[in-house]
Amino acid sequence: MQQKRILVTGGAGFIGSHLCEQLLKQNTNDFVYCLDNFYTGQKTNISHLDQSYPNRFEFLNHDVIEPITLDITHIYHLACPASPVHYQKDPLYTMKTSFLGGLNILELAKKSAARVLFASTSEVYGDPKVHPQTENYFGNVNSFGPRACYDEGKRATETLMYDFHHQYGLDIRIARIFNTYGPKMNQNDGRVVSNFITQALSEKSITLYGDGSQTRSFCYVDDLVDGLVKLMDTPDLHFPINLGNPVELSIKQIAELILNLTKSQSELNYLVLPQDDPLLRCPDITLAQNKLNWHPKISLEVGLQKTIDYFKSIRI
Ligand code: NAD
Ligand code: UDP
Repeated sequence: MQQKRILVTGGAGFIGSHLCEQLLKQNTNDFVYCLDNFYTGQKTNISHLDQSYPNRFEFLNHDVIEPITLDITHIYHLACPASPVHYQKDPLYTMKTSFLGGLNILELAKKSAARVLFASTSEVYGDPKVHPQTENYFGNVNSFGPRACYDEGKRATETLMYDFHHQYGLDIRIARIFNTYGPKMNQNDGRVVSNFITQALSEKSITLYGDGSQTRSFCYVDDLVDGLVKLMDTPDLHFPINLGNPVELSIKQIAELILNLTKSQSELNYLVLPQDDPLLRCPDITLAQNKLNWHPKISLEVGLQKTIDYFKSIRI
């Protein structure tokens, strides 16, 4: 079989590093380029890949805001800060990464005639008025607020994907990823699962924003990576597809589950709900089930236990 030369942007991040590993494991012929500038990613996420696959893995220290030339056949474009704390730290950089980064990666795909998959997000639905969210829902997004740099940046990249497909016939894939968790999440990125586990393990109070009734649906990273690879490898899916776990919980329920699993005595500390924090979120994954024969397999309890074990293993 012909060798694939696969570029994973954002490959040193949480999802990207799992994806690089899966791509290297599943096909012993393929070459994987991992591109990242360590804005939120970490060397430790990928250092073992350098050692295990010296002839099939290469790290490229590069900012996607700058153009790049490379001879590749497939691109998974994940580079972008993903947690509210990190994408709001320098919102203009987030916008540039989304738009200029998206444009540069699409120009690269066009030059190489590569298939390109974009890691979009459930945030394109904003604070949704349709529940659960289906791909044909246009969303309820505030373009003039603290989350806009990320939400509108991702929406703009989806539009770039659409335009490159329609103007140049580029072979595109768009995954609308819902909340994903698992080992290698950055401990300091302020996301709910990493915050609650870290707080519970150190018996610190649990920072619950609002009254904790807002909902999310959490997908274990292995399931998500499986969905991304299936989406890339399935022909003719030139439209957005939701990838996520449709089991929906309130944030308070997540806190209670994590306290139970860690056997922690930490107390709940109710804090102000951030502006534009979506009140509901749950994917309708009918399209992914029908087109990819994909659905998440790992239960929240099992996935959280693996994640707790990981956070225990990295504690100093
Ligand atoms: P992450 O922050 O761990 O990974 C993002 C990676 O991109 C990091 O390694 C970072 O250093 C890199 N990066 C950021 N800006 C860059 C730039 N300008 N040039 C080069 N590299 C850059 O986040 P993640 O959770 O792994 O998310 C990966 C992708 O999936 C992101 O595009 C994110 O928007 C999307 N996504 C994630 C989730 C989730 O729940 N984790 C949900 C929806 C969408
Ligand atoms: N959240 C919380 N406490 C925290 C971190 C997050 O209550 O320490 C809430 C947050 O307000 C949101 C949900 O958990 O309602 C998910 O937040 P996260 O930042 O993980 O992802 P989001 O889905 O908002 O991008």
